[in-house]
Amino acid sequence: MDLHIPSCFSAFHCLAGNCPHTCCADWEVPIDSDTAAEYATLPGPLGVQLRRALRQDEEGVLCFPLKGRFCPFLDEDGLCRIQKELGESHTGLICRTHPRFFNDYGPLREAGLCASCPEAARLVLAEDLTLLAQSTPEIPAEEAPPLLAPLLAARETALRLLRRRSLPLERRLELLLLFSNELQLLLDNGAPEEVQALCALYEETPPESLPPLRPGCGGADCCLTLLMEQEHLRQDWTDLLSEAAHRLSAGTLPAQGPPERLAERAAVYFLYRHWLRAVWDGDALSWGEFVVFATASVCLLSASQDGGGSFPDLLRRFCLETEHSAGNLDLLQDAFCTRFSIGDFLSVIGAIPPLSGRSGTAD
Ligand code: SF4
Repeated sequence: MDLHIPSCFSAFHCLAGNCPHTCCADWEVPIDSDTAAEYATLPGPLGVQLRRALRQDEEGVLCFPLKGRFCPFLDEDGLCRIQKELGESHTGLICRTHPRFFNDYGPLREAGLCASCPEAARLVLAEDLTLLAQSTPEIPAEEAPPLLAPLLAARETALRLLRRRSLPLERRLELLLLFSNELQLLLDNGAPEEVQALCALYEETPPESLPPLRPGCGGADCCLTLLMEQEHLRQDWTDLLSEAAHRLSAGTLPAQGPPERLAERAAVYFLYRHWLRAVWDGDALSWGEFVVFATASVCLLSASQDGGGSFPDLLRRFCLETEHSAGNLDLLQDAFCTRFSIGDFLSVIGAIPPLSGRSGTAD
């Protein structure tokens, strides 16, 4: 099996007791069957407590329900009691792997860090994404899904569009939107063999000769409305969205956005993490739209905070509320397909506040 790993992946170390936003809060802790089997016969007082705490949720998944907001095995020093007493290898699989994610596409596995963790968000924004390719012959490769090769090639082009630093990021997002739209037409027409030619067109054509797009208005409303419709994990996220909506209607949103380079790296993060989902659902357009929507939303929300807000923290909060919920991702994808036009996405791009530190460097 082939493996793609971002260069920041191995730099991750959990902040443990120093973490300002522990991941052992606000969601039940799922326990995989191997770990549950170990806990079933674990001797001593901790074994008894683990068995007492273990429950099946409404979907039949074994988990530790929260005590208040927190995992019942999170001690007051912010450390995990299971890890302290037994070692990390005895915690559940999700606890051992979070915030790392692994997405499999037949013969390809892509790893990454989920930016819902503050340390992962810091690393994701600290440098440009570089992918390291490895091979793991010990893991048997499955057959390649038909869309894997064309969508990998298309993602390379999408990545290069997002990094055309001679253009403002807003224009790069517009190009990504146009490219995703044309790519989708090829997929819908059963012509994935034409994707290479489309990639070459977008990479070789000077952006000035690609259709100019006219941003509409109301994009900030679009973002906030959709985010408000999602199921929220934390009340402070609901409060933040309400405050941003209030400021928007009062016309008091600050005019300054975050640094352009951070917004670009966030866009690249969303592209890397989500674009290849189209291998399975064939919906490249909505994953391109997701990159645009997510990047614009994080820029908008960080600008809506007093003093400009912390972009890494807003990225973390967006990812926590959106990327960990299949229901929230479905809601967005459904809204993109049924309620949003390309014009709406242009107005979403138009809602990005002026970004600071424009690089103006050559491509
Ligand atoms: S959110 Fe990240 S840094 Fe904090 S406890 Fe969880 S894995 Fe560690």
